[in-house]
Amino acid sequence: MTIFTKIIEREIPADIVHEDDLCLAFHDVSPQAPTHVLLIPKKPIVSLDALTADDTAVAGHLLMMVPQVAAKLGLEQGYRTVVNTGEHGGQSVFHLHIHILGGRALSWPPG
Ligand code: AMP
Repeated sequence: MTIFTKIIEREIPADIVHEDDLCLAFHDVSPQAPTHVLLIPKKPIVSLDALTADDTAVAGHLLMMVPQVAAKLGLEQGYRTVVNTGEHGGQSVFHLHIHILGGRALSWPPG
């Protein structure tokens, strides 16, 4: 079980900004921008690489929720979405999550 499952189950606290049947969004504990939120499926999918055809609906829902969460966060001027996958992708928590970063102009490319 990862730390994100513990957040879903309310075993550890998080600053939650959105919840529905399929997903949860909460502020990152170590923000890399003025606004930094993580959007996760409630299903403990390890990463993008672990997605199966059974996950089509939840993966679609997660993507559809990004603009809604961004709007709730007031990111009208835009935002960055990042999904780190595996060792070279810099993934540190092995429960699929979409980073939503905003609140300032972000540079590109990433490191
Ligand atoms: P990644 O490195 O892409 O796997 O991202 C994992 C993210 O989870 C990092 O940005 C961490 O700061 C964040 N994180 C780890 N533990 C917590 C927690 N308890 N609450 C909120 N965010 C967390």
